Amino acid sequence: MPVDPVCGMEVGEDTRWKAEYEGKVYYFCCEHCYKSFIRNPSKYVR
Ligand SMILES: [Zn+2]
Repeated sequence: MPVDPVCGMEVGEDTRWKAEYEGKVYYFCCEHCYKSFIRNPSKYVR
């Protein structure tokens, strides 16, 4: 199961909150995590 890189929660791939960054798709539990990631992706991706 994918892990939300912002809060560390496991998220189903059917979530409507997802974003592609540097060729990889990330999934989020909620709009809040999604927006935090979009604002500053490099903060959450190693
Ligand atoms: Zn989250």
